Amino acid sequence: MALCEFKVFRGAIILPLALLLVFSLVLPGCKKAEQEFTFAFLTDIHVQPEKQAAEGMKKAIVEVNKLKPDFVITGGDQIMDALSQSAERAGAQYGLFAETSAGFNMPVYNTIGNHEHFGWDEENSGVNPEHSEFGKGMFLNRMGVVNGQPSDKPYHSFDHKGWHFMILDSVGRRESGNYYGFVDEAQMRWITEDLSKVDKKTPICISVHIPFITAMTQLRSGSTAPNSPGIVITNSKQVLGLYAGHNLKLVLQGHLHFLEDIYVNGIHFITGGAVSANWWDGPRNGMEEGFLLVECEGDSIEWEYVDFGWNVEPAEKK
Ligand SMILES: [Zn+2]
Repeated sequence: MALCEFKVFRGAIILPLALLLVFSLVLPGCKKAEQEFTFAFLTDIHVQPEKQAAEGMKKAIVEVNKLKPDFVITGGDQIMDALSQSAERAGAQYGLFAETSAGFNMPVYNTIGNHEHFGWDEENSGVNPEHSEFGKGMFLNRMGVVNGQPSDKPYHSFDHKGWHFMILDSVGRRESGNYYGFVDEAQMRWITEDLSKVDKKTPICISVHIPFITAMTQLRSGSTAPNSPGIVITNSKQVLGLYAGHNLKLVLQGHLHFLEDIYVNGIHFITGGAVSANWWDGPRNGMEEGFLLVECEGDSIEWEYVDFGWNVEPAEKK
C-alpha cells in the first residue's frame, strides 16, 4: 500500500490531465494488492497428552503467528484418536486441542478427519451409539464452531478477498464401523446449492481430510497399485463433477502424512504433509513436521511447506 500511496503522491504534483491518467493506472494496481493474501493449512496435528505433542503444536502455532496469515484451516485429525477411545480419553484430546489452538492469533476453520469421529470403533471404544456425541457429534460440539457459532453440520463455506472456501467432510462409515472416504448425498446437495450462489469466475478452494486424488500408493507400491477405500474419497468423480463450470483452483488434502502437489486441469490437489510428521515420532520418510503457507494472488496460488523446527529427541522415539 505504501507504494500505491507514493505513486498517488507523485500524480498529485503533475498536470491535471496526467493526474487523471496516473490515477487510472494506479488504482487498479492498489485494488489488486488488496486481493493478495496468505493462509495456513495445518493438517494431521494429532495432538495428545503424550510425546510432547502439545508442545510441538504450540511451536507450530508460534511459527504461524509470526507469518501472520489471514486465517488458518486445519485439515483433519487434529487429535490423535477418538474412533476407538472412551469418552474420557477422547474428551481429553479435544480439550487439549481447544486449549492449545487458542494460541492462534487469527480465525481457525477446522476440517473433520477420521480420527475426530467419537466411538465408531465400538468394539475397542466401548461407546454406546446412543451417546449424544457419538460419531460426528463430538467434533460438532467441540471443533465445529464457525465464526463463533456452533455448526450443526461438519461442512460449511466462507468467502475471503474474492475467494470461496469450502470445508468438506470426507469421512463415511461402513456398517462394520470402519471409516472410508465418502461424501454423502446430503452434503452433495449442499455443495450444489452453495455453488449456485458462487460466481462462475470466483476462485474456489476446498479443504478435505481424505484426498480426492493422490499418487502416494502408486509411488510406493507401483504404478498399477489400487488405492484402498480408506485412502481416498471413493465417490470423488461424482463430487468433483459438481464443480464443472466453476473455477476450482485448489484442493487441500490431509490424512496421508505425505506431501505432494498434483496439478491437473488447472487445479492443484495438494496433500499437505503433517504437523505431526510421523505421529510425533520424528520425520516421516524424510518429511519434516510442517504445514503449508498458501499465497493467493488473483486466482493463482503459490505454496511452501514450512518446517517449524520441531525435533524429537532420540530417547523419545519408539
Ligand atoms: Zn486421517
